[in-house]
Amino acid sequence: MDCMFCKIIQNKIPAKRVYEDDSILAFEDVSPQAPVHILIIPKKHIPTSLEIEESDNELIGRMVQVANRIATDREVAGRGFRIVMNCNREAGQTVFHLHLHLLAGRAMHWPPG
Ligand code: AMP
Ligand code: ZN
Repeated sequence: MDCMFCKIIQNKIPAKRVYEDDSILAFEDVSPQAPVHILIIPKKHIPTSLEIEESDNELIGRMVQVANRIATDREVAGRGFRIVMNCNREAGQTVFHLHLHLLAGRAMHWPPG
């Protein structure tokens, strides 16, 4: 499968890994939009949030917990952080392997652009 994030999981493309377990990988975004910009992905290839199945619910919950843990470790949890999941093109999704963006370290705007 020609999926960039699957290739990162398989170590075929390098990434700055910050967390890994059996089912989740987190790594630095190559084009950071904030001082902290980390992507949290499932090792299972799920193209978009629309393909999340009931059996994935625990996995998705653990992805959020990983984001919380990284935010805490980076000492931005108290200041605030944003978790973003883009779905399909108008939302800005460019990589069709599910991912959470963890963004922090600066004031975020609302509404998002
Ligand atoms: P999205 O636009 O929500 O699909 O987010 C995809 C994100 O993946 C963007 O923020 C990109 O900067 C990031 N990205 C793309 N390729 C890589 C890569 N090889 N390593 C790390 N981040 C990447
Ligand atoms: Zn994939």
